[in-house]
Amino acid sequence: MKVLMYGMTPDQKIYVDKWNKDHAADDIQTTDEQLTAQTVDKAKNFDAVSVMQTSNIEDEEVYRKLASLGIKHLALRTVGYNIINFDYANKYHLLITNVPAYSPRAIAENGLTAAMFLLRKWGGYFKQEKDLNFTRPESLMSDEIYNKTVGIIGLGRIGSATAEIYHALGAKVIGYDIVKNVANEAFVTYTDFDTVIKNADILSLHTPLDQSTQGMIGTKQFKEMKNDALLINQARGPLVDTAALIAALKKHEIAGAGLDVLADENQIFMKKFDNIKQLPEDYQELAKMPNVVITPHSAYYTKTAVQNMAEQSLTDIKRVLNGQKPIFPVNL
Ligand code: NAD
Repeated sequence: MKVLMYGMTPDQKIYVDKWNKDHAADDIQTTDEQLTAQTVDKAKNFDAVSVMQTSNIEDEEVYRKLASLGIKHLALRTVGYNIINFDYANKYHLLITNVPAYSPRAIAENGLTAAMFLLRKWGGYFKQEKDLNFTRPESLMSDEIYNKTVGIIGLGRIGSATAEIYHALGAKVIGYDIVKNVANEAFVTYTDFDTVIKNADILSLHTPLDQSTQGMIGTKQFKEMKNDALLINQARGPLVDTAALIAALKKHEIAGAGLDVLADENQIFMKKFDNIKQLPEDYQELAKMPNVVITPHSAYYTKTAVQNMAEQSLTDIKRVLNGQKPIFPVNL
């Protein structure tokens, strides 16, 4: 098969090169350019194309040209498919596939890492080490995971993986989801939202962002949470009211937060600053707090996940070209 992968990055290219090596009959070519009306002609003589979420393919011309080049399959290497105009995709008979779960464990493990980092006060010990201070102050006395109650909101792919990990570590796991998955009942006790909020020592959020979840953790919830609870948000920033979080941390209503996502994360993520004053004020406050750990939406960013993004999209292209059904169709 001949595939052109747009929006290629060096980290994914490693796995494309491996695919080419392992599949001698295939010819997978890459470009760092995004798929646009200007670059679509590069797809001439290919069987299919693949894109990242970073492309912006609203333009009908892209779909029309792909069809005129005989391309019938566009494989997204990401979960989200909001960049696709499905009216045009369907009009030009373009199959869209995605990679819906490149690695739930990656996000689950990152959330656990943030929780353990805060629980065991590693921020304090790490800072001390760099100051060549190897004392053991009482302020850095820490806590153990196995006698904690972990509360999980959203028990889908990532929430379930999170629940399973904490259960394996001996923690009591309680959770809330609008849909109950009986397969989870071996390691999580389902309850209502308020009970999770009030009882969690570690509160881990794993719902999508929509009208039902936006701001789900705000002033009321912080007041109800345990004062020594940790909030772990690996899902979407706007699930949490940032101003209420800062106020709760200042008033010691909760003990800390591990944030892989922020409400306005595009203001600071994927950017390097010289001075903390360059950050928006609310993020200056969070960044200064020793009991807050922020990672730049990197929970998913593991070798396994990046490999799966490339390989699962190519697998579906191969299946379709071989006359099989794709594993992850979006518009079939
Ligand atoms: P999923 O669809 O498998 O699970 C989401 C779960 O949330 C479902 O079980 C659903 O029923 C539940 N839910 C929806 N609305 C709810 C509500 N109002 N209250 C309680 N539960 C509710 O999704 P997933 O693959 O587990 O991903 C979860 C989220 O993680 C994604 O939507 C995304 O925002 C985030 N995510 C973050 C990263 C990262 O790198 N930080 C990477 C991938 C996904």
